[in-house]
Amino acid sequence: MNLFSTVELAPNDPILGLNETFNADPRPTKVNLGIGVYTNDDGRIPLLRAVREAEKARLEAAVPRGYLPIDGITAYNSAVQKLLFGAASPLLAQGRIATVQALGGTGALKIGADFLRRLNPSAKVAVSNPSWENHRALFQAAGFEVVSYPYYNAETQDVDFTSLVNAFNTYAPGTIVILHACCHNPTGVDLTPEQWQQVVHIVKERQLVPFLDIAYQGFGVGIEEDAAAVRLFAEAGINSFIANSFSKSFSLYGERVGALSVITSSEAETLRVLSQLKLVIRTTYSNPPTHGGAIVAAILNKPELRALWEQELSEMRERILSMRGNLVAKLKQYGANRDFEFVNRQRGMFSYSGLSAQHVERLRTEFGIYAVSTGRICVAALNTRNIETVAQAITQVLN
Ligand code: PLP
Repeated sequence: MNLFSTVELAPNDPILGLNETFNADPRPTKVNLGIGVYTNDDGRIPLLRAVREAEKARLEAAVPRGYLPIDGITAYNSAVQKLLFGAASPLLAQGRIATVQALGGTGALKIGADFLRRLNPSAKVAVSNPSWENHRALFQAAGFEVVSYPYYNAETQDVDFTSLVNAFNTYAPGTIVILHACCHNPTGVDLTPEQWQQVVHIVKERQLVPFLDIAYQGFGVGIEEDAAAVRLFAEAGINSFIANSFSKSFSLYGERVGALSVITSSEAETLRVLSQLKLVIRTTYSNPPTHGGAIVAAILNKPELRALWEQELSEMRERILSMRGNLVAKLKQYGANRDFEFVNRQRGMFSYSGLSAQHVERLRTEFGIYAVSTGRICVAALNTRNIETVAQAITQVLN
């Protein structure tokens, strides 16, 4: 009997699968609004100048490539803490944050999930409906039962906050709630500051375990503003998990740079939590890779590089905002039979466009425009060369 004779073919990842179809499409006018990657006005993934400078310096220094510590580069982890919590956060001074370098945001979520599973195996995990697809899959793979909480109301194109609160109020203590700290993927719709305060209050009162995912810091309103939710949980002193990613904000997708931070109640607790996170890492991939972490640490810790990065990040953010504005204006100009003004209110790389699976199918077959069947489009892939095509095609499939 062959060992693999009963192995079933696993389904393709829907978004990466879409990418393959896109790559095979011969039409020169094709546009990929499917995958969550920022491209510049030339349609390319940028290599940031700050990254190039840091890489040049690193190449010249010819640093040997020994193993990193299990938890990664110390200068990287402390820069992550300052970026997320603010340099003046009392939690930093009190040693109440355990941070480990991770393989992107996904790696950070996975280390956190595995640690939580050892801590409380019977806890349920709640993810927003809808959410980034991997949230559910990742926590299920870690052994948890995953439920979803109401988040988006397609009619109001806004958060269904009453239903969210009602769901949270039914959760047992210890339930892990996954929250998008900013630039919600896939909807682009975030909680207001007042709603965040209410969520913090409920989480504290019901003793839920918040797990914040921040993959787009700097893509919403600004670096500091986008960290507001993380800081609210920190100020409330709640034991929280924060998975952050630099894939988008440094345009370093393939280098796998992120981190997991855990807010503890004391310095002694930090040491114990850190020791457990290291155990998870040691038995998963031993220690993280050097390059991405070293580059990000150099940029965040050197004032000139940091200023350059902040400028480049704000250019990316502004470009997305201008594409949102352009798309709305062009859809209006071409006479689309609905109002797309809500696209201007959404933040981050994505827009829940309201297009149906049939619309998306027609966009692909008739126009070579690729989007996710839920109607999610990546606004960060629009540029001055493809926006006319996209706006005209959307208008045609709608009208
Ligand atoms: N979390 C969310 C909400 C995301 O959208 C993404 C990437 O698309 C990630 C996490 C994963 O980030 P990374 O590519 O750094 O693993």
